[in-house]
Amino acid sequence: MYDPMLDDSPGCGIEYPSSYWADICGANKGNKPEDDGSLEQDINVDVAIIGAGYTGLSCALHLAREHGIKAHVFEANQTAWGCSGRNAGFILKSSGRKAYSTMQKQWGEEVMRGIYNEMCAGVETVNSLINEGIDCDQQAAGYIKVAHKPNMFKSLQAQAKLQQQMFGYDVQVLSKQELHQNFMADENAYGAIRYQDGFGLNPLKLAWGYQKLARKAGVKVHTSTPVSFSETQEKSRVLLTTPKGTVKAKKVVIATNGYTPKGLHPLVTNRTLPVLSQIIVTEPLTTEQLAACNFLTSNVVMDTRALKYYYRKLPDNRILFGGRGAITGKNSDDPYYAQRLLSVLKTSFPALQNLKYNYAWSGWICMALDDLPHIYQGEKGRVDEHIFYAMGYCGSGVSFSVQAGKRLAEKVAGKPTPNLPLYNKALPKFPFAPLRRVGQWGYFHYGKIKDNYF
Ligand SMILES: Cc1cc2nc3c(=O)[nH]c(=O)nc-3n(C[C@H](O)[C@H](O)[C@H](O)COP(=O)(O)OP(=O)(O)OC[C@H]3O[C@@H](n4cnc5c(N)ncnc54)[C@H](O)[C@@H]3O)c2cc1C
Repeated sequence: MYDPMLDDSPGCGIEYPSSYWADICGANKGNKPEDDGSLEQDINVDVAIIGAGYTGLSCALHLAREHGIKAHVFEANQTAWGCSGRNAGFILKSSGRKAYSTMQKQWGEEVMRGIYNEMCAGVETVNSLINEGIDCDQQAAGYIKVAHKPNMFKSLQAQAKLQQQMFGYDVQVLSKQELHQNFMADENAYGAIRYQDGFGLNPLKLAWGYQKLARKAGVKVHTSTPVSFSETQEKSRVLLTTPKGTVKAKKVVIATNGYTPKGLHPLVTNRTLPVLSQIIVTEPLTTEQLAACNFLTSNVVMDTRALKYYYRKLPDNRILFGGRGAITGKNSDDPYYAQRLLSVLKTSFPALQNLKYNYAWSGWICMALDDLPHIYQGEKGRVDEHIFYAMGYCGSGVSFSVQAGKRLAEKVAGKPTPNLPLYNKALPKFPFAPLRRVGQWGYFHYGKIKDNYF
């Protein structure tokens, strides 16, 4: 598997991974949405966007609709071949991993509220785009956070109280018994809190829907077109190289998140850590199996572990179950990681001892050193002034990436963006960057001990 820490290109024209989403959409059987094909000649463009995931497509869509700029999007493989076509499809009012209480301490209440408003705006934008006619199998609203330890239930209750006070957020507290009776009998849960507004959807259909809207607005999407920055650059144009043509762009947007290849551009080098998240999708549960677990809900579920597990019941009664994967791309297909997820699922639902999984795949999420996504323009007056990026969603970008793309479009169009650390600071560099994976390995061990014993 492509490994962004080691490889200098994600490939060219590679098919979608054999995920549940690709399968039910027929993505590798010719049922892909129309695009503009690979780039076959040299072109001059106003804006070139690298990466056709949610960020790139949202940036292109908003540039066209709100600023009259028709961008060209260049994707190495297929539309949403990266995270956007292989995630769990949880729409949540959050991104990054930084707690609001930490933001409040670090930057004060106004900034914390500003960031919260941007996260809410992300969900609103996703909803309004879906309402333009994107069919993406939305499920009933509700996001359940389960406590994997009794002390974590206390901390969830405190979190609920804080969010009710700070944001007037409607958060329900559920005892273990209430959870088991009304949602699902997860034996690993010691209680939970439930937000009314998260939901699950088909992430690949969502991305394809964005592409359709963007192309309708005049955007060109070139798939099978991996891009690198040319070694020689002109003063007023950024030169990009693709296998069959050169692109001269007034402005370039890097929207490659966890799939950013090694050495793509100095602005993003050593500023992210790609980490594999693994998903399995089981065979459909029978009526008896569903009844044995009292699996009533199709709400999206996440636990409180440092190394989180997440799951949801899909519309065809399969369970999607996810958690951390291998450390390197080379080991990503080792069935050990999928088996481990299945074993944990069975500890949550002991009645499912004979359940098998039908699909297993993984993808690179994009960690940032400060646990926060950053939407950034190279420093004015410097050679990088014409280069922009948005990345660092830390595994939670399905909804916020659309807002990031919208803000990115404002930056590209020279319009002001809110004065928030999301939009006015570069991604911090990782110290001892070559040792990032050693740090990750250490964190996984720390997480295992913390989750089991504290
Ligand atoms: C297993 C998994 C589960 C997840 N679940 C959730 C979830 O439930 N909820 C949530 O909020 N978030 C989730 N996420 C995270 C979420 O999917 C991402 O934050 C989001 O999709 C990022 O979108 P993006 O457009 O920035 O990047 P991507 O979708 O990764 O797109 C980047 C694209 O850039 C392309 N590219 C890279 N280099 C080049 C190049 N040189 N030239 C041309 N193209 C290039 C890649 O091929 C790729 O298609 C999950 C991620 C994974 C991996």
